Amino acid sequence: MDIWDGLYGPVEVRRMQPYETVKDYVCPGCNRDIPAGTGNTVTIPRDAPDLRRHWHHVCWQRRGR
Ligand SMILES: [Zn+2]
Repeated sequence: MDIWDGLYGPVEVRRMQPYETVKDYVCPGCNRDIPAGTGNTVTIPRDAPDLRRHWHHVCWQRRGR
């Protein structure tokens, strides 16, 4: 089990719209940038909200495969 599969409790998953994304992020799935203004998936472990991360939609769907 890893952090995204419940190690820190249920993970809240939200889809950020392009207009909501005002900074650049690095996707933990592929280690590439998610430029500001790009829609992404944000994941927030309930018990460790500081570990929230932004992913490309496809990277989140494909994680762990
Ligand atoms: Zn990615």
